[in-house]
Amino acid sequence: MIKKFIDKLLGKSPSAASKKPQFGKRVEVPATVHGIDPHLVDERAINVVRTLQQAGFEAYVVGGAVRDLLVGLRPKDFDVATNATPEQVKGLFRRAFIIGRRFRIVHVVYGRGREHEVIEVSTFRAYLDNAAAEQVAGNERTSKSELAGMKHAVDSTGRVLRDNVWGPQEEDAVRRDFTINAMYYDPETQIVVDYHNGLKDAKSRTLRMIGDAATRYREDPVRIIRAVRFAAKLSPLGFKLEAKTSGPLIKSQSLLNDVPQSRLFDEMLKLLQTGHALASVEQLKALGMARGIYPLLDVVVERAEQPFVAAALKDTDRRVGEGKPVAPSFLLACVLWADVRDGWAQRIRTGQHSHPALQDAIEDVFNARIGDVSGRGKLAGDMREIWLMQPRFEKRVGSTPFGMVEQPRFRAAFDFMRLRADAGEIDELLADWWQEFSMADDDLRQDMVDQVRTEQQQRKQAPKVHRAPAKDATATIAKPAAERDDAPEAEFAADTSDAPRKRRRRRRSGAAKGAGEGSGGAE
Ligand code: ATP
Ligand code: MG
Repeated sequence: MIKKFIDKLLGKSPSAASKKPQFGKRVEVPATVHGIDPHLVDERAINVVRTLQQAGFEAYVVGGAVRDLLVGLRPKDFDVATNATPEQVKGLFRRAFIIGRRFRIVHVVYGRGREHEVIEVSTFRAYLDNAAAEQVAGNERTSKSELAGMKHAVDSTGRVLRDNVWGPQEEDAVRRDFTINAMYYDPETQIVVDYHNGLKDAKSRTLRMIGDAATRYREDPVRIIRAVRFAAKLSPLGFKLEAKTSGPLIKSQSLLNDVPQSRLFDEMLKLLQTGHALASVEQLKALGMARGIYPLLDVVVERAEQPFVAAALKDTDRRVGEGKPVAPSFLLACVLWADVRDGWAQRIRTGQHSHPALQDAIEDVFNARIGDVSGRGKLAGDMREIWLMQPRFEKRVGSTPFGMVEQPRFRAAFDFMRLRADAGEIDELLADWWQEFSMADDDLRQDMVDQVRTEQQQRKQAPKVHRAPAKDATATIAKPAAERDDAPEAEFAADTSDAPRKRRRRRRSGAAKGAGEGSGGAE
């Protein structure tokens, strides 16, 4: 009775007081049991852990890297967790930067330029008691500077807005999302520290949220997307979402409405650009979440079966699998191409000239589909260039082709055009021509341009043949009439005499090796 009274005075609700966090018991698993191959651990991550430990701190490789090592995948990056504060971490390394506001972490940088590697170091986070965290009721009442001063803050729905309270490792572990993401590996002793039966779940191929899944999705709705992503990534290894983890997914989906667009956009890119794009689309459909996560993602899922978009997603997965870079601008340009192409054709039908019609169609698409993200100048700029270069592939005379291959976005635009050819939207011979041209020396390039001019002159002199109407306006723009499938026989013969056609075919077999290499939208 007295305790109840004191709790009341202190403002503790009985439910909050009785809800004890499940911190889990610390279990140390030796190498003989977990079987991680120490050679697969990145040298720089080992170096970061060693430096921190030698300075007297606790430090471990943590999260996704431990998960991947355990299930036999090569981790794409390595994160380190420590009890040193960000300032203490920064002080131990020459090139280290404190980043983030919501979660302050340290980037320790090795190497320079394209080859540089970042090891992300985070300080153990304290258990977040939602009831005790400062409630920020209605964001508009809390100014940005007030929010910045708070260490822990949640909004009225329970979403965590600020989270920079440090705590012991057991509290850090309970804050992580899935049991298989909550293990710590010490490369020095080769011990895995496991609080939530992560090892058992890894062995039984179970993706399980730590704690009550619905609450965890409320705290951070992005975990909904992470659940889909890991399910997609790990499904080829036989992983399944545990029932209590997948159960609240659909009804939690509306919580994503409150997540900033930029974070959703980044999570969407992680779904699509980490090598499991097709599997992620499948997971979204299987989980009943084909719509509603993020408008642009809805479009991707909707169009994933269209040959052109399917080819782009497949190509992205292949490139990531081969360790090649991928650019979001390329994939998004592919996904939204149907809108641009249709808008372009529509405008041409109403009498607008081709170039301004394309420019206006692109603007329409940015307004309708990209919204806030259009503020990301480089992404939008790159997409625009890929699209604007498409009709220029038709101009294979004069100095145009020479200028084209010098454009910084040529590779991306070419790969885009190659996918259009693969999807049957334009003639493959056009793609072959550009591939050959881009790899040729100046003399051969000149020969190729001269040859196109000769062919065009021959076509002009040939007797006029009535042409079947194109299916849509852009097909006329996109396919040189003589190379279209529906072009009458006589015209095709007039356009490409047998000799040059053979020559191109022969060359293609040699040149094909370079097809798509070093590009696929890589910029
Ligand atoms: P990936 O292989 O894609 O990098 P990852 O699990 O390493 O997967 P990161 O985003 O790099 O994912 O996060 C590193 C770790 O931080 C996770 O393994 C998890 O323990 C923790 N974490 C990240 N995001 C969240 C989140 N939203 N909620 C709880 N824990 C998270
Ligand atoms: Mg990671």
